This record gives sequence, structure tokens and C-alpha cells, in this order.
Amino acid sequence: MLDTTSELIKRVSKKIGVSNQQVEKLLGVDAIHEFEIILGNKAYKAYRSQHNSKHGPYKGGIRFHPSVSKDEVHALSILMSLKTAAVGLPLGGGKGGVAVDPKKLDTSELELLAREYVKQLYLHIGPEKDIPAPDVNTNSQTMDWMSDEYSKLTGDATKASFTGKSVNNGGSLGRDAATGRGGVYCLEEFLIKQKPKKSKIKIAVQGFGNVGQYFSKIANENNDWQVVAVSDSSATIYNSDNLDIDGLIKFKRNNPLSSFSKNSTKILSSQKIFNLDVDVLVLAAMENSINNENVNDVTAKIILELANSPITTDAEKKLIKKSTIIPDIIANSGGVIVSYFEWLQNKTGEVWDENYVNNRLEKQIKQAMTSTIKQANELNLNLKEAAIASAIRSLL
Ligand code: NAD
Repeated sequence: MLDTTSELIKRVSKKIGVSNQQVEKLLGVDAIHEFEIILGNKAYKAYRSQHNSKHGPYKGGIRFHPSVSKDEVHALSILMSLKTAAVGLPLGGGKGGVAVDPKKLDTSELELLAREYVKQLYLHIGPEKDIPAPDVNTNSQTMDWMSDEYSKLTGDATKASFTGKSVNNGGSLGRDAATGRGGVYCLEEFLIKQKPKKSKIKIAVQGFGNVGQYFSKIANENNDWQVVAVSDSSATIYNSDNLDIDGLIKFKRNNPLSSFSKNSTKILSSQKIFNLDVDVLVLAAMENSINNENVNDVTAKIILELANSPITTDAEKKLIKKSTIIPDIIANSGGVIVSYFEWLQNKTGEVWDENYVNNRLEKQIKQAMTSTIKQANELNLNLKEAAIASAIRSLL
């Protein structure tokens, strides 16, 4: 991931005339904190990478996963700086993690791990320094433990030290749906500018977890759009006339999509999602989903990247010749935008209602989308290059 990130930054920097020296600076980090957490007789490697704070405190998630490494948090923290800069937030980029398989820990061990992470890091984080959030295998409960530990250690009563907390503990309304909702707003803005001639835009969604489900539900509220297929790792569910998204969301709580059965709905292989007769393909599953092996199958003319880095560099070079890619750093920024709103609410003591949160999200993400399209046209770049270019410029 560090190589892919470096390659992307170097490629775009070259196109917009950024010097090698400036590129090297961008690829470095301000600090990486590296430590060990001891639970019983086991030691787990833990990290927090702080990339760039030019625009404000470092911001980014903490993940619990066996593959967490120094290089991975380094690369992810660069991507966070690019994302916050590209959407105009007064925040920088950070990322953290613990190399652990959380499935092997019980709840009390997970709580200990979360609290211990904060005990070792608290001097380097905080509402005005670095504000972590949930990421892979961490959630609002993890953030509640962490913000509580931070308050005990420092006396901070604002709870603005972490975002993604539960709503009863200072979390923001609208956060759960924010990434999917933000994706809908980006697509709306893109289609307004593109003025498609078709009356009904058909959409397929790869990945039916938090992001994919909210995206599908909110997208279907638009009468001119129709989600006709969704997939998980077990299957693709397709119905070109009437796909029951609410029913599928309920079903998916306890079952893989492959066991879904309903008249007139087709159950296809999970790879088939790339090859359906749709206008928009939404990637909401995982990184590297489109790669050299399946890029030729992709038929949609518009690709919306809601997962982080869902297209490999090689596949992107091929795909860009036939499709427009709405890039992850803009398209999936709804989550970090509403995290920023949570931080603002905690610092001021305000509590915003959900409509207000959604309206502010819409304004912020659509502005970023508009300026990315404008940059792309003016500089003759594709949308991903344009988003990265404007982020790089603002970070220098
Ligand atoms: P999630 O774990 O809730 O859902 C992921 C879904 O992808 C699951 O339904 C899983 O079955 C499916 N999946 C896995 N492999 C697949 C495959 N090969 N084919 C089809 N589906 C597959 O995760 P999420 O929170 O919805 O996040 C999805 C992606 O978006 C991740 O890459 C995440 O990093 C990124 N993202 C999430 C947020 C957020 O706010 N949750 C913000 C920014 C980016």
C-alpha cells in the first residue's frame, strides 16, 4: 500500500510540476509512535502515524488487525492527509493500529487493549493534536473506552479526543450513514454536471456492509435511480425491475446473500457484479477489488469508489480508458466529514439534529466534488488525479 500511495503521489506531482524534494517531504511523516501492548503473556505491536498537520490536528482511524504494520499505517496516514485536504477540512492525516486478531480476544480483553493503547499514547493525541476514530474491527464501543481512558488520564471533559463514539457518549447523529450518504451526494453532483440522457440510472453495489447498505437505501430514494444489484463475498443478487433493498438489509443481518431466495431475483456469483448491464458500479467492499484479473469484465461507465483503494494501479490504467472513476478520497469522505462535525459539537457543547448534519455534509462534499470536476477540466486530468493534485498543492 505504501508503494501504491507513493506511486500515485509521484505520478500526479510530476504532472503538476511538484519538485522531487517536495514529493519526498510529502511521503514522509511528522512522527510514527511505535510501542507494545502486553496482555497476559502476549505482546502486540501498536502504532500511530502522524503524517501532516498543516491544516489542523491529525485525524484518522485505529484498526485492530493481524496485518497492521508500520508501513501500512504510514501509507494510510498519507491518504488521510490527502482526503482531509481534498475536501477542505481543517484537519490533517493520521492512522493507527494494533497488530492483533480481535476475534481471538473476549470483550474484557478488547477493552484492556483499547485502554492500554491510550495509556501509552495519550501525551501525543488529544482534541487539538490528534483525534483518532474507528477503522477496521474497531467501533463506537472502542472509541467510548478510549475517550473515557483519555479523560481519566488528562481530565479532558469535552470527549473531543476521539470521534465515532456512541451517540449517548458524545457521538454525532448521522455518522453511521455518513459514508454511504456522502457517496450518494457525490454521484448526484457528478450526474448533474454530466447530464445523462437516460431517465433511469441503473446501479450495482459491490459490498453490502455498512457503507453499501446505506448507499443503496439512500440512492433508491432518488426516483431517477435504481439499485438493481448488490453483492457480498458469497453472491450477487440481481433484479433489473425491483430489488428489495430493505428486505435484503434485514436478511443480511443473519445470512450471507447466497442463501437469499425470491421469485424473479437472480442469485449470481460475487464476481458477476462487475459484468451487469448498469450505468454505475459502486465499490463498497475492500481494497484491490478490481484488478488485472477482472478489469476487462467491468462494463459500467461510471465507477464510484466508496472503499479505500478498491482498484489496483494497473487495473486503473485500463479502466480509465472506458469509464469515469469518482475517486475514493472524495467519494468516501462522508465519514471523516461527519467525524469533523462530531469534534466541533464536542468542543462547543452543541448537539446538532440529523437533518442539520446531513445538510452540512451535502454542502461540504458537493463543493469538493464540484471543485474536483473543475480542476480536472482545467488541468486535463482525470478525477482521481485532480483530487490528489489539489490535495498535494494545499499540503505543500
Ligand atoms: P463492512 O465490513 O461493513 O462491509 C464490507 C462488505 O464487503 C461486507 O458485506 C462483505 O461481505 C463485503 N465483501 C468482502 N469481500 C467481498 C467480495 N470479494 N465481493 C463482494 N463483497 C465483498 O465494511 P464497511 O464499513 O461497509 O466498509 C466498506 C469499505 O469502505 C472498506 O474498504 C472501508 O475501509 C471503506 N470505508 C468505510 C468507511 C466507513 O465509514 N465505514 C469510511 C471510509 C471508507
